[in-house]
Amino acid sequence: MLYVSTNKKAPSLNFSQAIFANLAPDGGLYMPEKINTIDSKLLAELSSLSFKELCLEIGEVLLKDSLDKDFLKQTIDNSLTFHAPLLRMSEDLSALELFHGPTCAFKDFAAQFMAKLMVGLRNNQPMTILVATSGDTGSAIAQAFWNLPNVKVCLLYPAGYVSPVQEKQLTSFNNNVTSFKVNGNFDDCQALVKQAFADQKLSHDLGLVSANSINLARLIPQIFYYFSAYAQMPKNNAAVIAVPSGNFGNLTAGLIAKRMGLPVNNFIACTNANDVVPRYLKTGDYSPAMMQHTISNAMDVAKPSNFTRVQFLYENSVEALREDLSGFSYTDEQTKLAIREVFDKYKYIVCPHSAIGYLGLQDGIKVLKSKHDSKKNYHGIFLCTAHPAKFPESVEPIIQQKIKVPDSLAESQNRIGNVHMLNNSFEELKNKLISA
Ligand SMILES: *Cc1c(COP(=O)(O)O)cnc(C)c1O
Repeated sequence: MLYVSTNKKAPSLNFSQAIFANLAPDGGLYMPEKINTIDSKLLAELSSLSFKELCLEIGEVLLKDSLDKDFLKQTIDNSLTFHAPLLRMSEDLSALELFHGPTCAFKDFAAQFMAKLMVGLRNNQPMTILVATSGDTGSAIAQAFWNLPNVKVCLLYPAGYVSPVQEKQLTSFNNNVTSFKVNGNFDDCQALVKQAFADQKLSHDLGLVSANSINLARLIPQIFYYFSAYAQMPKNNAAVIAVPSGNFGNLTAGLIAKRMGLPVNNFIACTNANDVVPRYLKTGDYSPAMMQHTISNAMDVAKPSNFTRVQFLYENSVEALREDLSGFSYTDEQTKLAIREVFDKYKYIVCPHSAIGYLGLQDGIKVLKSKHDSKKNYHGIFLCTAHPAKFPESVEPIIQQKIKVPDSLAESQNRIGNVHMLNNSFEELKNKLISA
């Protein structure tokens, strides 16, 4: 199976090449040239499988002709050691908890899988993982590659724009991990990383590898958990899944799952004030605005890099996309009210990102019912993308209660790792990367 650039002007690559190629030379991102579909027999069996078994079955379909079966099994066994439980909140509402990994955000699925996959494919050739983070990616990646042989990790995060808990986490790694606190916002961090990859010599000399969601490897385990959500939900209802989105990797994985045959009626793209995608769905005009800072900081992305993959899947047709996807954006005020509402109604604590998913789900289902059949039984699932204990300063004043901190998170808060200040300058980054 070959992997093609979303811009269609670069040579196609095999799986391993696509994983290590970062951006395609034409500026596009890699996608499978064909998305394999699952048969109804397997779909019916999913509910009887363990999470790892389910991942392997879906992975074998997705990566047939791309990856050796035994290697896939070993990679899944060694990385996907935590679950994605679907928590039933009411008859027609569930929360997919994606924060049971070591850094308490959904990015752990992608990071853990990618680390084991890359180290396995790389045959001990040295590599430097370079990653820009809006909050959660950096820790998940650092945790996954920490102390692995022949790997260095450099992560860039925007000074002042991550939560205090996130910052402690991001700076808790040592040995082969270095964190850079960048004088700029996330888009600046992302631009610096892109410049580094565009510098052929630097990229070659350091064996630079991207761990951002432009890397196809990250999408794979995210595809798995959508199938797991389906396996856990009541089957006589039509599934609607709301995805809190920033860079749109998570939603891309959901749409690929749907293309593979996952029976989801609709997806809902839920954003904070950085609403380029909901506006596009409304107007057909894709026009990124300035980045805005919000309390759902991991979604503060003005130019979501993965959206090109979504457009590729739908051949740039906004009409076709609207059949599967609607979009809604919310203010910080609305987000806070939603945290309170979920707590009052369900005694459940959500992080600000997940709260936006909850809001989008309500509005999305309302619109579906008004457009189609008001009596149709939908089962709404919103993704809980991070544990609320990562954002106590936002959440605790709203619920007037302390949040219990998971052990792995508490432990990271007491470690001191390698951290350097960095101006928003590519030359400076380059020098530091060479000396790291
Ligand atoms: C990264 C992140 C998101 C956004 O996910 P994308 O795949 O970038 O759209 C949402 N919530 C949390 C908590 C995150 O860390």
